[in-house]
Amino acid sequence: MLKFRNTLKVLAAACFLLWIVDGCLLIQSESPRSAAPTAAGSAPVPGPELPPRYSGAIHVHSTYSDGGGTVAEIVRAGQHAGLDFLFLTDHDTLQPRFDGHQGYHDGLLLLVGEEVNTSAGHLLALGVGKDVDQDGPLGLPALIEEISEAGGVSIAAHPTGRRPWTDWTVEKMDGLELLNANSDWRDDGVLELLRALVFLPFLPDGVFNSLVDRPEEAIRLWMHRARRQPVTVIGSVDAHERIPLWGERHLSFPTYERMFGLIRTYVITGTELTGDAGADEAALVEALRRGSCYVVLEGYEPAPGFSFELTMGPDRVSMGSSVGFKAGERLHVTAPSSGPVRIRLYRDEVPLIETEGHELFVEIPGPGVYHTEVYQMRSTLLRGERQRLWIISNAIRVE
Ligand SMILES: [Zn+2]
Ligand SMILES: [Zn+2]
Repeated sequence: MLKFRNTLKVLAAACFLLWIVDGCLLIQSESPRSAAPTAAGSAPVPGPELPPRYSGAIHVHSTYSDGGGTVAEIVRAGQHAGLDFLFLTDHDTLQPRFDGHQGYHDGLLLLVGEEVNTSAGHLLALGVGKDVDQDGPLGLPALIEEISEAGGVSIAAHPTGRRPWTDWTVEKMDGLELLNANSDWRDDGVLELLRALVFLPFLPDGVFNSLVDRPEEAIRLWMHRARRQPVTVIGSVDAHERIPLWGERHLSFPTYERMFGLIRTYVITGTELTGDAGADEAALVEALRRGSCYVVLEGYEPAPGFSFELTMGPDRVSMGSSVGFKAGERLHVTAPSSGPVRIRLYRDEVPLIETEGHELFVEIPGPGVYHTEVYQMRSTLLRGERQRLWIISNAIRVE
């Protein structure tokens, strides 16, 4: 009996050791890659052929609602993280805008939007200069119309999270959050979360990266809607830097700076930003409305050189466009990285073709909603090669 118990103890210890070693290797394999080298060996900058793009954090809460940091603290975190722009979106208030916080802060463009509580869930209203809310249970279409008429964009927040978006019949809503850093870890298994806790003090970069997975359900919702109309998708941080404990106590975690380095939306504006906050807000919001943007798991590697375009002879159109089908139209994806990647092209949600390389060029077979995803190849001794989601494009609709 004693011998049996000892054997059990040894077995349990061996399993625990294996779990720790496997976890350590796995989290290590999730570490950031240094930025892709260019011919000159410096950090990549978009070449002259790439239109200007700006990387930012969308969906941030401050002490104006349930966030833990003041606007000044959030601005500092955004500057440290190297953001180009940041959309503050406190719950049901535009007060930070009225208090004069919107504008450039040493190179960082702080824009104030709002997260509006509606009958169908939480809705981001970006680029609206006035406070908006839903008037009565049937007032949702009017709210979305009002946002649109005021020059803003409306985006369903955490559509598959704990407070999901429930009304997909509203016509004019511009888009949805494909990734939400505050929701995405919640569907992970108990063991995965336990592993994250164990390694958080030692390998925080890898731990945060390991918790973001391909948003299967949000992609299905996106594609379902995109067959009927253009839909913008973004990656948001939903940063609070505040986990409530009991009474007035809370944990200042995860930090704003950490979240700003985890998920970003890169917005491709037609022209360079000017330094004038009003004009630049309009340019960014207009590009978001068009879907001229892409989502990056910035924690793996910045992606300033990514592009996804449809070409026809000398003409080319980018993400967010809708075009008619013509024989000979080709899709072109480039995804420079300092390590191995896999580019996968989807037509109506179904994988069409993929390549292990930094470029893909393919003639399209017919109409459809096309988007691309880029994966970073990461391997460990015990698990072999794994592919981890790095970039999701917006769609090009071919009708
Ligand atoms: Zn929310
Ligand atoms: Zn939120």
